[in-house]
Amino acid sequence: MELFHRTAHELAELLRRKELSAVELCDAVLGRIEAVEPRVRAYVTVMADVAREQAKAVDARRAAGEDLPPLAGIPLAVKDNMCTVDAPTTCSSKVLEHFVAPYDATVVARARQAGCVFTGKTNLDEFAMGSSTENSAFFTTCNPWDLERAPGGSSGGSAAATAAGEAIIALGSDTGGSIRQPASFCSLVGLKPTYGRVSRYGLVAFASSLDQIGPLTKDVRDTALLMNLLAGHDPMDSTSADRPVPDLTELLGRDIRGIRIGVPKEFFAEGTDPEVANAVHAAIRQLESLGAIVGEASTPTVSYGLPTYYIIAPSEASSNLARFDGVRYGHRTSKPVADNVELYEQSRAESFGPEVQRRIMIGTYALSAGYYDAYYLKAQKVRTLLKRDFDKVFEQFDIIAWPTSPCLPFRFGERGDPLSMYMADVCTIPVNMVGIPAVSLPCGFSSGGLPIGIQLGASYFEEPKLLQVAYAYEQSAGFHARRAPLGASCGGEA
Ligand code: GLN
Repeated sequence: MELFHRTAHELAELLRRKELSAVELCDAVLGRIEAVEPRVRAYVTVMADVAREQAKAVDARRAAGEDLPPLAGIPLAVKDNMCTVDAPTTCSSKVLEHFVAPYDATVVARARQAGCVFTGKTNLDEFAMGSSTENSAFFTTCNPWDLERAPGGSSGGSAAATAAGEAIIALGSDTGGSIRQPASFCSLVGLKPTYGRVSRYGLVAFASSLDQIGPLTKDVRDTALLMNLLAGHDPMDSTSADRPVPDLTELLGRDIRGIRIGVPKEFFAEGTDPEVANAVHAAIRQLESLGAIVGEASTPTVSYGLPTYYIIAPSEASSNLARFDGVRYGHRTSKPVADNVELYEQSRAESFGPEVQRRIMIGTYALSAGYYDAYYLKAQKVRTLLKRDFDKVFEQFDIIAWPTSPCLPFRFGERGDPLSMYMADVCTIPVNMVGIPAVSLPCGFSSGGLPIGIQLGASYFEEPKLLQVAYAYEQSAGFHARRAPLGASCGGEA
């Protein structure tokens, strides 16, 4: 298999044994970017020069006999809503088109420190609002499994880059599914960690009580390795959890006999694509054959997840995005304006895309005096009900299993109506609303060859057990070993 299609842990082993240099690996990935990026369009900014310097530095440190962290020399793509000092951070928005942050996000600083090689900043739905990358202000990213379809979103660029071999691993952010759904659409592993497990410092905020950063990788071991690097307390993020970080590779390979897996029946609602439901049910049977004890679970309030998310997320977004007024942050109009208010109005009207404007309006409405109690406060109360449902499920089960996405990767333009796009997140959103961790992993392909993902969830900070079960399934099922068929014309083997 071509270098760019291999996993980080395999490559790390080759690097450690000096059978491969970081520069060779970096060149292989940059070569792949050159070959396929015109078709995939995963990157807003490719950081070729930075990457080469970083790779050289890793080789020099290794040559000097230094004992390097596990992911040193591994090419990593960063979603373009995380701050980096050496490349713009655009959020795929005209608002921040030329913005270069004066500091690194904590996750970026950690990856830099660990010797990761930054391939570039990946495309997303503007300010992470969307499920397909079609809301990017710059261009749409294509799904490497079928270039006429969406890679999912909002972390579609990170997912497409990893699936196409344009990065070995990637960082995404997940507010309502933006890591897991693209992972599912691109046949990758994507983890949304427990809220507070990973620092949000330097992540451009969308909805602060829901946002989490996490990995997009080709297998579960890579997710564990990247999480080991990302997780942990950060004094710069007051919501980051001050508790020990276990080594997430430790439980990989342990058998899962006796682990109780609940299948929440409400998640297989009408409207789930039958091919998705079949693949997920087959995966659950496979988990059972590995010794897990499977039973039906119930989360009766889960149908409120989507409507309450679309109150809470836009409310928080309307507040977070108020800072982009063209004064300190954001695009400033060049048209003559009479006063400050007009400056704000004109600058914001010119630069926010339609979906972001829609959310700002919904959020401002829901937070306004007179409506706050009826919408925002009520949504927060429903959120508590949702949490209680999940707490109850976890009294009975260790893990829950259900589809990541109710549908297969869709064609561009197929979900032009915003409500139908929102519906695509029905399976992922409740997880953010309650703050638990959940992972999406490949569980098969449709008759047309499109990837399908199963979602596994666990209670707060139970990532070790979550990845233990995910790994057991992955290793027995083997779907993670397939690569997107971009074809020889794209410069590499399929
Ligand atoms: N698709 C969801 C939305 O549009 C979730 C996005 C995300 O997780 N960033 O809000």
